[in-house]
Amino acid sequence: MAKRDLTKLCTYARQHGALHAKIIEPSSVVASPWVRFKCQFGCDGYGECLTCPPYSPTPEQTRALLSSYQRGILIRGGDHVDITQLAYQVERKAFLSGFYKAFGMGSGPCRLCATCDVTEPCKNGMEARPAMEAAGIDVFQTVRNNGFSIRVLTSHQCRDNYFGLILVD
Ligand code: SF4
Repeated sequence: MAKRDLTKLCTYARQHGALHAKIIEPSSVVASPWVRFKCQFGCDGYGECLTCPPYSPTPEQTRALLSSYQRGILIRGGDHVDITQLAYQVERKAFLSGFYKAFGMGSGPCRLCATCDVTEPCKNGMEARPAMEAAGIDVFQTVRNNGFSIRVLTSHQCRDNYFGLILVD
């Protein structure tokens, strides 16, 4: 894979379950303090998982991270796709292709272990990745900034519409 070619990574993501994969500028990714408040006050997963707040990166840390990248890939998952695992797989593919800075983020809590013991170090730190929202990213604004549609899901009958982000180089 050519060092500068990200289209092959997008194709890889689609071949492994993404409905869409788009090359984006990390400057279009929004990280805001209110996102962490929504985790702390309104999510029963708060503090239950090492990839979630208060253990995950703060919005300030995420903004600093974003400023050290020039390009990323935003992926949209299909039904029944573990978007965090897919983001990790794309990250790994990118890394092995020479993009040594590649880092993926997904959606929702980590599901790699049956339960997450937050009093111990992560049991699978090689693969565990935070959700975009767990790192303070305003997913709604970010995906809209990149031409995707998203709306608040009002019931469990609504179709899945999850996104992941891979910061590439
Ligand atoms: S891999 Fe296991 S220990 Fe690590 S964050 Fe995920 S659930 Fe927790």
